[in-house]
Amino acid sequence: MIDSTTRAQFELTGEQRQIAALAAEIAEREIAPNIAQWDRDHTFPRELYTKLNNAGIMGIIVPEAYGGVGADYVSYALAVEELARVDAGTAVTVSVHSMICAAVMKLGSESVKEYWLPRLASEDKIGAFALTEPDAGSDAAALRSIAKKVDGGYSLNGRKQWCTNGSYAGVTMGMFRTGGGGAKGVSAFLIPETAKGVTVEKVTEKLGIHTSNTVDLAFDDVRVDDEALLGSEGDGFGNAMTALTSGRIGIAAQATGILAGCLDQSIAFAKDRVAFGRAIGAFEGVSFKIAQMAMDLDAARLLVYRAAALADAGKPFAIEASKAKLFASTAARKHAAEALQIHGGYGYTTEFPIERFYRDAKITEIYEGTSEIQQIIIARSLLGKLD
Ligand SMILES: Cc1cc2nc3c(=O)[nH]c(=O)nc-3n(C[C@H](O)[C@H](O)[C@H](O)COP(=O)(O)OP(=O)(O)OC[C@H]3O[C@@H](n4cnc5c(N)ncnc54)[C@H](O)[C@@H]3O)c2cc1C
Repeated sequence: MIDSTTRAQFELTGEQRQIAALAAEIAEREIAPNIAQWDRDHTFPRELYTKLNNAGIMGIIVPEAYGGVGADYVSYALAVEELARVDAGTAVTVSVHSMICAAVMKLGSESVKEYWLPRLASEDKIGAFALTEPDAGSDAAALRSIAKKVDGGYSLNGRKQWCTNGSYAGVTMGMFRTGGGGAKGVSAFLIPETAKGVTVEKVTEKLGIHTSNTVDLAFDDVRVDDEALLGSEGDGFGNAMTALTSGRIGIAAQATGILAGCLDQSIAFAKDRVAFGRAIGAFEGVSFKIAQMAMDLDAARLLVYRAAALADAGKPFAIEASKAKLFASTAARKHAAEALQIHGGYGYTTEFPIERFYRDAKITEIYEGTSEIQQIIIARSLLGKLD
């Protein structure tokens, strides 16, 4: 569904509108009829990603020369938003996968791009990102997993936590320590699914995004060749941050989609539900909540599309991506609660999708940099590093 409000005024191109409409159509046709069951059963719908792959969504930002669609970041943000409007779990799967595509495009050598991009964009391989460890989350530079140089490549050892798409990944971008302590000792590797010694130690059960796969991975003497090193030794922390910066556009779009879903549901319910002889939307206590929700949805969209448009223009967009993620995730969490309130008791039941949006919204404030970390990034851009 193309909105007649914010999006029209943002002057989207024909291609951007077409991609948004395609993602919305797939979400309505393939996800909406199944999502309640998938959510209940914690199903990772693997076959859905083959369909998204065939439709070009998995290779949206990958250039045509490497088997992708060659669309821009605004199109990508629109697609993620439309998926999240129906299911936030699907949206994060696509977002993390696209973050790996972007990292390979930006950081990979020509031979790495030629090998991985067609597989990720059109051959149904899914990307995953493994940075977090049991004792290294926001402070990712404290990671302890080790990459030891061996003849012809590296041996990887360590534990990675909460790896999205980890059980289904065709390739995982993993950060390991090759040098001394701190950020400078970290290197990034592209670990293929064929690498021996990678074990899914635990599938994590979560409050929400039940269709997203979140796992702990063990790496035990995993041998990769020299080509697996992404960039140079010691660049891995910076490379991970580069990936996360583009990833934040995806998570901001995911939060925006949740917000749009909450607004859709709230409008429909407020028109339909009658109390005291009137549709509840006639009460200001309800309609003002909807007005605030619509305003924040507009603001979130504009921030997300601005960050994406800057990325498309090849301009710096890290601060704008942080602002978009911070605003959209805060708004999604806040308005999911308001949408549930508008639905009254029905909102608390699984008969309506609102309780799922309510559970799903929270994670957008946590992964790919918590809201506190986004505020640190934004504040430092204004104040510099004072201590
Ligand atoms: C469902 C899910 C999926 C995930 N997917 C991935 C993935 O695919 N790949 C991956 O690598 N990781 C993934 N993560 C990890 C995620 O990115 C981290 O959980 C997140 O970065 C926060 O780290 P932490 O949980 O260790 O919290 P901590 O870093 O321990 O933070 C705890 C609290 O302290 C606050 N805090 C920490 N430092 C500061 C500071 N300097 N100033 C102010 N406040 C601070 C935080 O904001 C937070 O509120 C995932 C997590 C979840 C739950």
